Amino acid sequence: MAQITLKNICKEYGDGFKAVNDISLDIADGEFMILVGPSGCGKSTTLRMVVGLEDITSGDLEIDGRRVNDLAPKDRNLAMVFQNYALYPHLSVRDNIAFPLRLGHNRIPEEEVDQRVREAAEMLELTEHLDRRPANLSGGQRQRVAMGRAIVRDADAFLFDEPLSNLDAKLRGQMRTEIARLQRRLGITTVYVTHDQTEAMTLGDRVAVMRKGVLQQCASPRELYEEPVNLFVAGFIGSPPMNFLPARVRDDRLELPMVSAPIPEGIRDELKGTEVVVVGLRPEAIKDAEVRTPPAGAVVFSSTVDVTEWLGNEQYAYVPFASDPAVQSTLEELDRDLDGEGLRTQFIVNLDPSSHVLEGEEA
Ligand code: ATP
Repeated sequence: MAQITLKNICKEYGDGFKAVNDISLDIADGEFMILVGPSGCGKSTTLRMVVGLEDITSGDLEIDGRRVNDLAPKDRNLAMVFQNYALYPHLSVRDNIAFPLRLGHNRIPEEEVDQRVREAAEMLELTEHLDRRPANLSGGQRQRVAMGRAIVRDADAFLFDEPLSNLDAKLRGQMRTEIARLQRRLGITTVYVTHDQTEAMTLGDRVAVMRKGVLQQCASPRELYEEPVNLFVAGFIGSPPMNFLPARVRDDRLELPMVSAPIPEGIRDELKGTEVVVVGLRPEAIKDAEVRTPPAGAVVFSSTVDVTEWLGNEQYAYVPFASDPAVQSTLEELDRDLDGEGLRTQFIVNLDPSSHVLEGEEA
């Protein structure tokens, strides 16, 4: 097992474009670390630098305290599982799993190869498929073969690059649980790249959120959800996303589009002198006052629902709002900063599914 440390890592491509910009991360021994972010944010490049498939432009990469920037991939003892599994079609499952053990100078005796392959196959429930070719396996089984190849090597860490993105939704869910179970059992340091926030939130001990090559926040899933450090993380984590509502600050109150609310005690001083703020409200933080009696101190408002979506276990209501023209320039600035994600004209409420809210109704 291994501790992996990234110190001010940068990746610059020929044209001066910084795909990864000054990333520092401490991945603990046995930790499951997720790298997540929108397409092109640099997460794969970061992983490829760790495994040695990409040169590091500047910064230091350490494994167990040893600088490995210049170490060849094969000498880093890290096992990478790719999105397309990279299996050899002409080899059986057995030979695919055994492949890394038959490489290099320090050949392992065939008996030991066989033993390790059988153990890995057992763990991954592949024993009965050992003689098949990859073409005769399901996507999930192929995925397990790819993981088997990583396991037999006794690698110090697993590195996954979007391993589930080719699978259908059901299988993705199953494989996600399987990867989680396996990683907990083996307790092996794991770095996992995904753009799927469900994978990020369910698998990671910690999640590193990246944007445009820059690390935004690295924290436990709960901390990311409850205490995002900026609007990008707030809007990226959570589905449906957090609502952003513009508000004017007037004395001790916030003038939101549909209601005025007292400023919470703890941030009153911080907001002194500020005219416009963006209020982040999770959809589930807004409740249906007809279903549940509002607790003391709750801010009650009524709005017209535009569209509802009933999903059985939850119900979303989309509520349009018009902004005060005075907050427009702040909103436009926010929108530029969030690549068009900031300027919203509706907010989402996650209602109790038993609420009978009809579209066009006041709720
Ligand atoms: P995705 O989820 O789409 O795979 P990602 O977050 O993994 O995205 P990377 O593949 O790490 O993103 O790419 C980061 C940025 O670097 C992108 O803007 C990409 O276009 C750019 N990039 C990647 N490889 C090269 C290259 N060889 N030369 C120039 N630019 C590159």
